[in-house]
Amino acid sequence: MTETHSTEPRGDSGPQAARLVASRVLDVPDFPQPGILFKDLMPLFADGEAFRAVIDEIVAYHGRNAFDVVVGIEARGFVVAAAVAYAAGVGVVPVRKAGKLPRPAYSATYALEYGEATLEVHEDAFTAGHRVLVVDDVLATGGTAEATLDLVERAGGTVTGFTVLLELGFLGARKRLAPRPVHALLTV
Ligand code: AMP
Repeated sequence: MTETHSTEPRGDSGPQAARLVASRVLDVPDFPQPGILFKDLMPLFADGEAFRAVIDEIVAYHGRNAFDVVVGIEARGFVVAAAVAYAAGVGVVPVRKAGKLPRPAYSATYALEYGEATLEVHEDAFTAGHRVLVVDDVLATGGTAEATLDLVERAGGTVTGFTVLLELGFLGARKRLAPRPVHALLTV
């Protein structure tokens, strides 16, 4: 008997959401540098119906009253975060690259494939015990997410969820972020 492998898109919100994201992502080889296959989600952002469907799914997955604020990671995470926050009727807090925030901020530096990066959040971004949903477009190695989750906690927030539109599963970020749960609409 021949073994068959399903190519059906999969994700934590089921095949329909996974298919939707898969149908609106473009693979760009060798961007921003040779060897990287860039997952471009601009077609999803640009399609009103599809964008609304994924935002509504993120809110439904976590529950409308399960978080007090949404954190978006610069820059594409801002697009998702602002929409989720609006849909849930809560506020949005940006986690920014170094040197962009005007007031005192916590910072976290982490390793990239080449070199390092620093992310920052305002020291007064959260009131103690604020339940925080963190969102980004793509989860790759998990370094960006790990630094962001640490920053939120240092600033007094309680991370209650982390969602990405697309996860590169083979890079093992889920293991790196454990026991913190990851919600990915599409895992490739
Ligand atoms: P990482 O820290 O390795 O998980 O990288 C995650 C961050 O880099 C996210 O903010 C993504 O927007 C971006 N990123 C990393 N790899 C890719 C990729 N292959 N395609 C698109 N964005 C990526």
